[in-house]
Amino acid sequence: MQAIKGTRDLLPPETALWNRVEQTAQEVFTSYGFGEIRLPIFEATDLFARSIGLETDVVSKEMYTFVDRDETSVSLRPEATASVCRAYIEDGMQQLPQPVKLYTIGPMFRRERPQKGRYRQFYQIDAEVLGGSDAPGIDGELIEMVMTFFERLGLQGVQLEINSIGDKECRPKYVELLRAELRKVKDKLGPDSQRRMETNPLRVLDSKLENEQKLIEGMPHIADHLCEGCAENYLGVKRELELRGVKYGENWRLVRGLDYYSRTTFEITAKGLGSQNAVCGGGRYDGLMELLGGPPTQATGFAIGEDRLILSLQEIGKTPAPPRRDVYIAWMGTRVYATAIRAAKSLRAAGFSVELPPIEQKFGKALGQADKLGARYALILGDNEVSSGEWTVKTLADGTQQKLTEPQLLDFLRKL
Ligand code: ATP
Ligand code: MG
Repeated sequence: MQAIKGTRDLLPPETALWNRVEQTAQEVFTSYGFGEIRLPIFEATDLFARSIGLETDVVSKEMYTFVDRDETSVSLRPEATASVCRAYIEDGMQQLPQPVKLYTIGPMFRRERPQKGRYRQFYQIDAEVLGGSDAPGIDGELIEMVMTFFERLGLQGVQLEINSIGDKECRPKYVELLRAELRKVKDKLGPDSQRRMETNPLRVLDSKLENEQKLIEGMPHIADHLCEGCAENYLGVKRELELRGVKYGENWRLVRGLDYYSRTTFEITAKGLGSQNAVCGGGRYDGLMELLGGPPTQATGFAIGEDRLILSLQEIGKTPAPPRRDVYIAWMGTRVYATAIRAAKSLRAAGFSVELPPIEQKFGKALGQADKLGARYALILGDNEVSSGEWTVKTLADGTQQKLTEPQLLDFLRKL
């Protein structure tokens, strides 16, 4: 049997790195007042269709959708924001002090072509700030938080790009203008862009096709068409980033792949990832809550691609050591086994990692095994040790041996 295409097993020691990344996220996010939300893996298909948008790649061709036994259509979640908003409304979070700050970590599902940094089951670390206001300080702090997280992990080559894509007042006018300009050069565009030009012209700006670049460069920039509110908000966000010492670049072609964004959007790239180099995407989505039947609620958030984050950390040599084993217990004789079990229990309770072989082995074989596992000490327990209460401890690196009582052994290990 084989795992399904685009899915994979995460094994030790790599999983230790995943744990460290997630633990660091929890620490950093907690210091910014975020609480954890855990969400269902599948939801009504309609939730994603309404929020992400029917014309997006994610909804139109990448979702894992099936009809449940009661005829309702359900989908594996392709992202977390829609579920967070559903939960905000359903669980009455508008009654809480605003803004509500939430994060969540877990698997997402999109049927994409698998390649390095792109999987069908992948993992996101997601944070959202819901309610309160659209004050640029909220966007500024959110971006500062993700940059702090990356810095804490030692991620390299981190680059932040920002843009404003306007709101429901100014964006439709810009989209029409863009569409009109694109129509003028329609014949020179590829089939994807020709289609997107009609369904979702902003996505054309995202094109990576070499021969389209020059044409796109000549298109009108949204920054010149923002309404007063959006222009002021965008300026405010840039000022916030400067105040917080966050370095950024502006990219007028940065549009996100999901329809719900408005105003400030951003993307963060990192080193060692080839063409799949975006490790985080995010932005403001002030209209989404109403679209889902909730009260008008200003909101902003980001999603980090955890698989890519881990890949980038591995590229720069941040690979974790194999699982640590402090003590290997080489025991011999059925009479000794009970003492070995008790010793393992008390050493583990004291925080040490202990390997206790389940069946009796010859000493030579036991020591060889201890070596292979990379244990630092072998605790040798035979009849003599048990009757005298003096245990033999062998330091595997240099082969030295000493006799220690159980309390002395604990002291000895603690000192290291
Ligand atoms: P991309 O342009 O790389 O497809 P996206 O715009 O579809 O990304 P978002 O929906 O904004 O991505 O998701 C946020 C982050 O999740 C991305 O920046 C990326 O790191 C990660 N991500 C998205 N899709 C995948 C995938 N199929 N496999 C691994 N990571 C992914
Ligand atoms: Mg994508």
